[in-house]
Amino acid sequence: MQESHIDALNNPIFKTISEAAEELSVDCYVIGGFVRDYFLKRTIPKDIDVVAIGSGIALAEKVASKLKGKPQVSVFKNFGTAMIKSEGIELEFVGARKESYTRDSRKPIVENGTLEDDQKRRDFTINALALSLNTSNFGELLDPFNGIEDLGNKIIKTPLEPGITYSDDPLRMMRAIRFATQLNFQIALPSLQAITENKDRLKIVSNERILDELNKIMLCPKPSIGFSLLHKTELLELILPELTALQGIEEIEGQKHKDNFWHTLEVVDNISVATDNLWLRWAALLHDIGKAPTKRFHKKIGWTFHGHEFVGSKMVYKLFKRLRMPLNDKMKYVQKLVLMSSRPIVLSEDFVTDSAVRRLIFDAGDHVEDLMTLCEADITTKNPKKQRRYHQNFKIVRQKIEEVEARDHVRNFQPPISGEEIMETFSLKPSKEIGIIKEAIKEAILEGEIPNEYKAAQEFMYIKGAELGLQVAK
Ligand code: ATP
Ligand code: MG
Repeated sequence: MQESHIDALNNPIFKTISEAAEELSVDCYVIGGFVRDYFLKRTIPKDIDVVAIGSGIALAEKVASKLKGKPQVSVFKNFGTAMIKSEGIELEFVGARKESYTRDSRKPIVENGTLEDDQKRRDFTINALALSLNTSNFGELLDPFNGIEDLGNKIIKTPLEPGITYSDDPLRMMRAIRFATQLNFQIALPSLQAITENKDRLKIVSNERILDELNKIMLCPKPSIGFSLLHKTELLELILPELTALQGIEEIEGQKHKDNFWHTLEVVDNISVATDNLWLRWAALLHDIGKAPTKRFHKKIGWTFHGHEFVGSKMVYKLFKRLRMPLNDKMKYVQKLVLMSSRPIVLSEDFVTDSAVRRLIFDAGDHVEDLMTLCEADITTKNPKKQRRYHQNFKIVRQKIEEVEARDHVRNFQPPISGEEIMETFSLKPSKEIGIIKEAIKEAILEGEIPNEYKAAQEFMYIKGAELGLQVAK
């Protein structure tokens, strides 16, 4: 007699499914992520996959008819699946199937199959675990591929020969790496080799699906696990060549620069301790991409990456477009952070003047805290003395930002004198003088020559107008 895992199924919904299946005389099982996460003691997922040895759609309809409020069943006829949303849970029903694949598509040819056929077509042994929902053996575990053992050993393996599994559906390569990162598991060596061998098959996977997995990796506690696996399997070169271009240390005349690829991964891990903001994590990943195209060696000063922030921020658009990422304010945010990524560093190295801080706040606007978080994450020196000093310096910059903010209100700066007022004061028609005066007022405020206040700005406008030979209107 198999061990029972009834406690995994204490949500009353499982009893309902069991009854519905009995009435239809079909066997059914809960399978996949729900079972895996139960054994891993992770938070119980909100999506539950049920496989029926028969029609998944018919079972879904029967279940829905028994549920409170008779929820709607969304049927995906082409896939033979049906979905019900009930009390915050998403139930997905599918008929057990046997699949065979053609070379050029992720879409298999599907036939009805047994439970074991269905488990075989799952991506990983840990995702092929099933618990019976049948009254005769409710809660029994069905694990023909030793998924439980692999869970215990923290290993990701495929039920079938890995070459077949990954070639059939190359999205599984990304999923393997994503699960390794989320669960902190190792990918079995034959799987890793098969991924590398099949890396070019990634081209039949849509960019949306690749991005989906990439973002999941990015949101893990330690994204570098995923990125170094992507690198090791040579998938990264296909997805983000801008990043792999940063790899390597060159040496000329005894002068070396750091490996900006591994540095970047450290920065991403660092920032992931400080924030769950996906876009700030993306900014960390991309903050140095301009370093590959701007790298130069000079006899006197060694390696330089002049203007890499600007070049990097210009590279963001193409990269976002290629990966089907949003080309909206999220992209602009990443571009801005990449562009400004060295600004606080310069400040922290020097004596910090108020005007430099005002300019930083003015240019960064609401993103000034995120920019500071990025710069702190950028500290990857292994020298403890330097590390302490850099952190201390940024703390001073942060304090200065607070002081200047409280006093000068230059964040999202609105000029205290409008263009209209300048026009009326000097009875001007639209002309370049208006721009000159406006700009001069802004500069005077940022430089701290005048406070960010109406009266002072008005005085300053009169002076500037006089300098330009303008007459005050009566
Ligand atoms: P999570 O929901 O946390 O991402 P999951 O394991 O539930 O993890 P889903 O994408 O929800 O992943 O898929 C549910 C189940 O369907 C998986 O556990 C696996 O058994 C199977 N599965 C999903 N995608 C694939 C695939 N590309 N190839 C084979 N089996 C897959
Ligand atoms: Mg799931």
